[in-house]
Amino acid sequence: MQNKRYRQVNDDNCGWTHLAGEMPAFPQLEGNRQVDWAIVGAGFTGLAAAYRIAELHPGDSIIVLDAEKAGQGASARNSGYIVDITLNDGGSSLADEQTQLAKSRLNMAGLKLLKNRVRHYDIDCDWDESGKLHCAADVRNIPKLKKFEGFLGRADLPHTVWQKEELAQRLGTDHYQYAVQTHKGVLVNPAALVKGLLENLPASVMLYERSPVLSIQSDGAHRLTTPGGELTADRVIVAVNALMPELGFKRDRVFPLTLTASLTRSLDEKEYQSIGQPEPWGVLSASSMGATVRLTNDRRILVRNTVEWWPGLAMGKAALEQRSKKNLLGLRKRFPDLQNLDIDYTWSGHVCISRNSKPVFEKTRDNVFLAGCYNAGGVAMGSLFGKLIVDYASGHESEQLEQVLGQEKPVFIPPRPLLDIGLKARLAWQRYQGRSEA
Ligand SMILES: Cc1cc2nc3c(=O)[nH]c(=O)nc-3n(C[C@H](O)[C@H](O)[C@H](O)COP(=O)(O)OP(=O)(O)OC[C@H]3O[C@@H](n4cnc5c(N)ncnc54)[C@H](O)[C@@H]3O)c2cc1C
Repeated sequence: MQNKRYRQVNDDNCGWTHLAGEMPAFPQLEGNRQVDWAIVGAGFTGLAAAYRIAELHPGDSIIVLDAEKAGQGASARNSGYIVDITLNDGGSSLADEQTQLAKSRLNMAGLKLLKNRVRHYDIDCDWDESGKLHCAADVRNIPKLKKFEGFLGRADLPHTVWQKEELAQRLGTDHYQYAVQTHKGVLVNPAALVKGLLENLPASVMLYERSPVLSIQSDGAHRLTTPGGELTADRVIVAVNALMPELGFKRDRVFPLTLTASLTRSLDEKEYQSIGQPEPWGVLSASSMGATVRLTNDRRILVRNTVEWWPGLAMGKAALEQRSKKNLLGLRKRFPDLQNLDIDYTWSGHVCISRNSKPVFEKTRDNVFLAGCYNAGGVAMGSLFGKLIVDYASGHESEQLEQVLGQEKPVFIPPRPLLDIGLKARLAWQRYQGRSEA
């Protein structure tokens, strides 16, 4: 497994990170080290794995390696929804509904795990249990939400339906026509959450950042090469999510997509009053290409409305500025009266996608395990998968593990340049279909 050079993929503009305060700093790996467990990637998946190893194997040595600043991949850059249930899976037959419910149970297990950790370590991450609203700006998308509502009713899952007028009052914008709110999801500042997890790592866990793994050679033990040193480990957990193909894993099964999000400055008192002083909220679009929008505790507005195939992964200043304008357009459409509300931060991040929306969870060779590819919903799921991949590597059985092992696997994707052509065409079509929700 080779990645001869590592190219930095993250910008330094993530608004959540700036607001979360100073992140803990970790050294770079230098020289040669030997451990029982190596974890590659310090996001929600890798960190959950580290906590679990420390819990199950108290005497074992554990090293986590991250290519960039720890936790600063998608885990800090996401929109901060710890989801209870997802809309876009559909649910067009009884079997689909059962699959969606099973996935929801896994999400709830991941959410519970995070909640326990937030409480136990008293992590300050703006934890907000007000749930999320699935909204349609375009009346043509209302039937999709009604179908979802029917499913939630049949499954006896708590939800609330919002009509246009009461929704406008709740949100402070009359942009949306209809919404279905689910009540078990949580909103957070994701960077503050990941910061809390990093600050409270168990004592047996050593973390090295800015230490990209360039290759993993296996001959009995496993040798992980980084620019500054080499790590030899008995067991390896690979938790690099969207960067799996870069490290040589799952190239014919998963691919990264690049998203950009913006966070405004805080609304001043007059602006806040002008939108009716609503409580914080989180809106997810009825369309997969629609905008995710949040009003945060400190009265900022988050807009994320771009999804694209950007094979270079890193986004330069000019590209980010262009995306910032798109985010601003999404903001102005929703809040035309907040003409002076500017954007403070715009950043990009990567999600890992498979063609059939299935995750990766497997032993890839003796004592090397992979977990990732949450198809843009990995805060709760990644936290659960990090724990379960360690259980799998340790022979620790559970019903949850069995469920995850029994899930369908990601299906084949064509190599580049066919992948480029297919993805560009598909995204362009989806963007066109979802344009009224962007
Ligand atoms: C803009 C955006 C919005 C999103 N919104 C949501 C949301 O609201 N809710 C939700 O549930 N999900 C959301 N997601 C998805 C979610 O953030 C991810 O699914 C989740 O963070 C995955 O966690 P992870 O630990 O598997 O991966 P990551 O957080 O990406 O962590 C992987 C780590 O591996 C490191 N790494 C990569 N290559 C190497 C290497 N060669 N050597 C060493 N380290 C390496 C990276 O630096 C990174 O820190 C969003 C994602 C984005 C980008």
